[in-house]
Amino acid sequence: MNIAKNIEKIQNELPETVTLVAVSKTKPITNLQEAYQAGQRIFGENKIQEMTDKWQEMPKDIRWHMIGHVQRNKVKYMAAYVDLIHGVDSIKLLKEINKQAEKFERKIDCLLQIHIAEEETKFGMDEKEVTNLLASDEIKDLPFINIIGLMGMATFTNDENQIRKEFKSLKTLFDKLKPDYPTLEELSMGMSGDYKIAIEEGSTMVRVGSRIFGERNYNK
Ligand SMILES: *Cc1c(COP(=O)(O)O)cnc(C)c1O
Repeated sequence: MNIAKNIEKIQNELPETVTLVAVSKTKPITNLQEAYQAGQRIFGENKIQEMTDKWQEMPKDIRWHMIGHVQRNKVKYMAAYVDLIHGVDSIKLLKEINKQAEKFERKIDCLLQIHIAEEETKFGMDEKEVTNLLASDEIKDLPFINIIGLMGMATFTNDENQIRKEFKSLKTLFDKLKPDYPTLEELSMGMSGDYKIAIEEGSTMVRVGSRIFGERNYNK
């Protein structure tokens, strides 16, 4: 695995407007250092403990993105430093992020996760839920969070049409909400297997892991 080369290759494929999040979950620090030396400054992790350990060890100009499902009782461990939380899907979680951010006198950027896949197991809100959330009075009371966009994951399938259809639906929702909520700027969609389709469908942020760092081994 030549991590630097992989990053360069992907960066060359991305339009300038698209941000690359290097998904380093399960990977050792040495791999992250290699990516850092290649110029990568945004890393994505899906476990708060692991991300915090890596944040402590790595240079401080890195921006850490939480891309996994967030348990409310663990927000406090990343509130001091997390740059963007991708997977926010309830007002309860937003309230907790707001509360923890206040303790550190900072604002935390969040993306609202939308359920676009066919699979039941993926987290996220549907159109009605996100519309209600954004329109709610409760959300106006949270000065320490910024909702800067939406995030979604397509079905895990080889069917390109299916993936494209799901990304299209997320982009349509994004465009529909944006006039009323101009702070929505980022559309986080696309992973190793589908980021090219995601970009064609309007992604502004791709979360790429195995294409950079190689396959993950979960049986350790
Ligand atoms: C693991 C993960 C990724 C990266 O997956 P790859 O297929 O390895 O690129 C992207 N987004 C989320 C939410 C993930 O959990």
